[in-house]
Amino acid sequence: MRRKLIAGNWKMNGSVSANASLLAEISAGGVDVAKADVLVCPPFPYLTQALDKVQGTAIAVGAQDCSVHDAGAYTSEVSAGMLRDVGCTYVILGHSERRSYHAESDQIVAAKTLQSLRAGLTPIVCVGETLEQRESGATDAVVGAQLKAVLEKLDSAEIAKIVVAYEPVWAIGTGKTATPEMAQEVHAFLRQVIASFNPEAAATVKILYGGSMKPDNAAELLRQTDIDGGLIGGAALKANDFLAIIAAV
Ligand code: PEP
Repeated sequence: MRRKLIAGNWKMNGSVSANASLLAEISAGGVDVAKADVLVCPPFPYLTQALDKVQGTAIAVGAQDCSVHDAGAYTSEVSAGMLRDVGCTYVILGHSERRSYHAESDQIVAAKTLQSLRAGLTPIVCVGETLEQRESGATDAVVGAQLKAVLEKLDSAEIAKIVVAYEPVWAIGTGKTATPEMAQEVHAFLRQVIASFNPEAAATVKILYGGSMKPDNAAELLRQTDIDGGLIGGAALKANDFLAIIAAV
């Protein structure tokens, strides 16, 4: 039985005061630890604030990216080791906004995945197709290639430690959600891809769905056999919505 993970990707949103209120409301909402693991991923400057605020709760804190390098003359970059050092436990990698606005290739995502695993972080590796790719029937080929590029760089033990997030690009921030059946189909395919590298890990690796997940569609998505949680953007910025999604598990 895979435990569900509900992860909030705050993207480039927040302020010291807004984060304090949001985290206070989420903590006060009595996150049901029996139901799911809960994670928030604020922008870099607010990671330590979030870590401080969630102390004593079951909420974990992660980052939205890390460097491919360990340390050194890489102005503006943040290493996986630094994230672990301050107390983060997860890092989102290969989000479609990184892939499209920062030209992140599958190879870069694979290198970042290795860096994060070596630092002791759990990487959330994002894959997803564009609308054009879906309409041309290329979904499996696209997400399969994105995932394989990462898996082939990992050993069996490392594969067992990752989380995958299926985020159809056309559903991110658009209000359009994949139907539960559409999402389940891709999740089952991604699980097969993992099985082709490590059959045991395929049974345990979590595959999250992301793309306009909201309180009113979360329950049905989370009920699918191969959907092990959600990576949530917009709805993670509203405490009530985020708590409702956790409650929908
Ligand atoms: C995301 O950015 O990871 C995401 C899923 O965003 P939204 O929930 O706003 O579609």
